[in-house]
Amino acid sequence: MYSDFADRLATTMWQDFDRTPSREDNPAEITDVSTVVVDGNFPWTIVTVETDTGVTGVGEAYPSPGVHEVITDYFEPVLRGENPLDVERLYNLMRASLSGRGSQQGIGTIAISGIELALWDTAGKLLDQPVYQLLGGKMRDEVRMYADCHGGEGMVAAARNDQRTETYEAEAYARSARDAVDDGYEIVKFDLDVPSGRDIDTLSRHLDKPELEHKRRLVEAVTDEVGDEAEVTVDLHWNLSVEAAERLCAILEPYDLAWIEDPIPPENESAMTRLNRSVDQQLLTGENRYGRHGFRDLVERQSVAFVAPDIPKTGGIAETKKIAELAETSYMTLAPHNIGSPVATMAGVHVGASVPNFLGLEFHARDVPWWDDLVDTDEPLIRNGYIDVPDDPGLGIELDWDVVETHRKR
Ligand SMILES: [Mg+2]
Repeated sequence: MYSDFADRLATTMWQDFDRTPSREDNPAEITDVSTVVVDGNFPWTIVTVETDTGVTGVGEAYPSPGVHEVITDYFEPVLRGENPLDVERLYNLMRASLSGRGSQQGIGTIAISGIELALWDTAGKLLDQPVYQLLGGKMRDEVRMYADCHGGEGMVAAARNDQRTETYEAEAYARSARDAVDDGYEIVKFDLDVPSGRDIDTLSRHLDKPELEHKRRLVEAVTDEVGDEAEVTVDLHWNLSVEAAERLCAILEPYDLAWIEDPIPPENESAMTRLNRSVDQQLLTGENRYGRHGFRDLVERQSVAFVAPDIPKTGGIAETKKIAELAETSYMTLAPHNIGSPVATMAGVHVGASVPNFLGLEFHARDVPWWDDLVDTDEPLIRNGYIDVPDDPGLGIELDWDVVETHRKR
């Protein structure tokens, strides 16, 4: 009796992994984990998990240098022979196996996230159930997408534009907003940390009056154009000091923005909390945060109104659902960051379907005309600004591997 108790007491997480369910009973075994990089507006890193049943699951890891090696050289041997239905156990196994070497954030967590997405797709296909069902069922039949309009002419055009400033003029922003609203998007987002054409010291994080005025004009152009047809948001990519953010937020007050994203650097909850209390704007952050612990202080201190984890970066589908549940304890709203292919996007759709406090999922590939071609279907995934929550097993899409091959990054 005592020895049984002591035995159980000694069963730490680590030892648990030596007591995994017998592999002989596995309904399926992982036989291979690999990646393919698609040359989109980011290097979309597609992850495949193959099993001995013939079922293959597909996931996506956040575009990061070295993630291919971490997945194929490190995690493939860790996962080979494991039961892909044990998604949460394998998530913990991967984290434990990389303990002290990046399991909490950065490239290690990104690799784990990409595999986790593929495991959910695999499990769904093996059980003939959509991922949202495995997460507890759905709250909604369709998931709102919001349009990242980047600079006015889109990211690809901006990269090609030597002058760059033409892209970041009020007229271009207004045109881009009109296009997105006409396509059915109810929320449009624009980068506001963009060149004004003046030579300024960006490292100081300060905004002088002409810079503030340039940003005000861009926001005015967009909000004038869309009126009540859509919510407008702006992204500042961590570029401002607290004082600059306070001045900018004050100047933008009349435009009734849905949120202001990442005005200040991401590391300091106290600074974000101060900003949140001192401005009359809703703030959003989260794409540089990892897992529940990366959001805990933010949620407890109520430093923002919206949390925006990036699903193929922060820990994956289940971890994002847990972040949403954590955020809900402070009545905060989830609006996941997404710069991915249709695979990462569908992961966001299943999370968005399965949590109550969801507002919208980012779509960042409006200037990639073949984004939909990656999916083996004739219908566009996004229709009128929404994606229908699919009832097909797993993530609910099949990639067109010929199209993947065409755009494969060598
Ligand atoms: Mg952002």
